[in-house]
Amino acid sequence: MPETTTDIPTKINWEEIRAQFPVLQQEVNGKKLVYLDNGASSQMPKSVSDRIDAYHKNEHANVHRGIHSLSQKATDAFEATRSKVRDFINAVSLEEIIYTTGTTDSINLVAQSYGRKNFKAGDEILVSEMEHHANIVPWQMIAEETGAKLKVIPMNDEGELIMDKFYELFSDKTKMVAVVHVSNALGTINPVEEIIAAAHKRNVPVLIDGAQAVPHSKVDVQALDADFYAFSAHKMCGPTGFGILYGKKDLLNAMPPYRGGGDMIDKVTFEKTTWNDLPHKFEAGTPPISAGVGLGAGIDFLNQIGMEAIAEREHELLEYATEKLNQIEGLKIVGTADKKASVISFLLDGIHPTDAGTILDQQGIAVRTGHHCAQPIMQHYEIPGTLRASISFYNNEEDIDRLVEGIELVKEFFG
Ligand code: PLP
Repeated sequence: MPETTTDIPTKINWEEIRAQFPVLQQEVNGKKLVYLDNGASSQMPKSVSDRIDAYHKNEHANVHRGIHSLSQKATDAFEATRSKVRDFINAVSLEEIIYTTGTTDSINLVAQSYGRKNFKAGDEILVSEMEHHANIVPWQMIAEETGAKLKVIPMNDEGELIMDKFYELFSDKTKMVAVVHVSNALGTINPVEEIIAAAHKRNVPVLIDGAQAVPHSKVDVQALDADFYAFSAHKMCGPTGFGILYGKKDLLNAMPPYRGGGDMIDKVTFEKTTWNDLPHKFEAGTPPISAGVGLGAGIDFLNQIGMEAIAEREHELLEYATEKLNQIEGLKIVGTADKKASVISFLLDGIHPTDAGTILDQQGIAVRTGHHCAQPIMQHYEIPGTLRASISFYNNEEDIDRLVEGIELVKEFFG
């Protein structure tokens, strides 16, 4: 498979990288766009959209089932992404890389497949207070069916997990720990290494929601020793509708399929059906092929910059933004953990986040407002929601300055 080519020089010129994102070059409401909603979805560089376009123009056919050349070309393009993902997160084998439609789908797969087989009445699933709904609701659903219960690791007011409580919550009944690596609403980077090691001492598997970690730092699933690790393509310069579940091979092999249909079978008769091998056992039906190809191109793009460089640049921008925002009177940052990724949630004294977000949008500044699919976090702080600026490596100091000016205007507007 040809690698996608981008124009990134050896010494990183962040403005040249930014220039590779066509969508960022536009005006919104008559102002140059400032895109600070990367936590929801990142933007796509031209190399990724070109690769998807080229796939549609030259390689498209259904995958895995065709003897004809075009189907094999499509299969090669689609499967090339699996090797890229394996290398990107340092998984041991391709069988451990399951294609899904995103983090939500990946977590549902584990909850339904692993959970239905292994949970029984009285068992406990440990989640944390700072989970995205995608790492709460699937566990609640399977808990309801099996009689298992959710236990919640609380956090302090800085937005850090209270680790003593985590240890206290463990019992013989604990059958799964499911924790977010980086909080989408607070930016907190959780001590997942410690959590995984503690769970393994008690023979309990751990699922990590890595939706906000994989796009922003080097994740090594072997070093972490995670049992399951979930993430989405659209937060890492790839397209929507595609994601990954990493799972340890032994665990995945012991799990029943989640969905039935084409591609996931070995032999079908009306009496009995047998399953395909990993990873296809979990991939029923025609997958989002072009989106899979797009994720491969997204990974090429990130690799050409380097995840260490990305993490460093985003940290620099986080520090710059935190300092600037802290100087604004009446602004309070929600989530002040010691270890943070480039997400800043904040409140403006006496101004509803939605109202503030609307005025910012009029100035071409895209931030997210609301509960960020993490209502328990808002319940912790007893607030309806926050404004959230989530920063990517293709943002710059000017974007942050524009946000600061925008917030000053919001304050003026509301008197
Ligand atoms: N988990 C976290 C931490 C997220 O930030 C998100 C999306 O914002 C999700 C899960 C859900 O991802 P998706 O909607 O791509 O399935």
